[in-house]
Amino acid sequence: MLLGAHVSISGSIDLAVDRAVELGCTTFQIFTRNPRGWSYTKLKQQEANQFREKFRKAGYSVAMAHMPYLPNIASPKKIVYDKSVKSLTAELERCGLLGVDLLVVHIGSHLGAGIEKGISLAANAVNTSIEKVENKVYVLLENMAGQKNSCGSRFEDIAAILAKIEHPDRVGVCLDTCHLLAAGYDIRNTEAVEKTLAEFDRLIGLERLKAVHLNDSKGELGSGLDRHEHIGMGKIGDTGFKAFINHRAIRDKPMVIETPEDKAGNYQTDLAKLRKLYTS
Ligand code: MN
Ligand code: MN
Ligand code: ZN
Repeated sequence: MLLGAHVSISGSIDLAVDRAVELGCTTFQIFTRNPRGWSYTKLKQQEANQFREKFRKAGYSVAMAHMPYLPNIASPKKIVYDKSVKSLTAELERCGLLGVDLLVVHIGSHLGAGIEKGISLAANAVNTSIEKVENKVYVLLENMAGQKNSCGSRFEDIAAILAKIEHPDRVGVCLDTCHLLAAGYDIRNTEAVEKTLAEFDRLIGLERLKAVHLNDSKGELGSGLDRHEHIGMGKIGDTGFKAFINHRAIRDKPMVIETPEDKAGNYQTDLAKLRKLYTS
């Protein structure tokens, strides 16, 4: 089972690997830099080497990085859009240096300009960045939670973006369970999971699915709320997660939690719960 958590890079980026090991992760996710703000310092070769060395020694095969918070590749505002493309390009480069092969990106918000516009901007952004950076890093479009003006909450939107991608061999999808439920895709039991993933397969193709974010949802089915909850304690529940993570299309994929740390639980408890629900 490839299961892990989004771990902090606080201190230095190689410490993320130590944190993942400490949690018993078999895969993990990081931000390659502080995700708040647009600015960042250049990744030094030395830092990247330290990360790579620990990654290799710990026996990891796959990890993912998540784009910072501010970029919006579907933004109709030219300044924000241009900065977002720059960020995406920079992250692709940083991932290449680190040997992190999967880069997860939120498709973003069209801010009222319309879904068609958002789809075309997002596809352009990905095409531009990939054209600039030649490496083997995969860009993974993450499904959104159905927020107002969001781009990529529906499988149809993701399929429309993928259809415009010039290098399909470098772009895939990351499915977030909280976002699925919030966007109206039921995954609360075996039948619902089957139906939702069959729909994904029909519109996008399961071969495009490269990674999974496991988060329970505070919001109800179709609520449009992006609020993560501990595994089993939200509206998806144990039954939903058991069905989802054991599904033939999911069980071998890298899975990462992005759950809160609070009185109700933490990474340790959420990972333990998932290991228990996973049938070998
Ligand atoms: Mn995300
Ligand atoms: Mn996510
Ligand atoms: Zn989320």
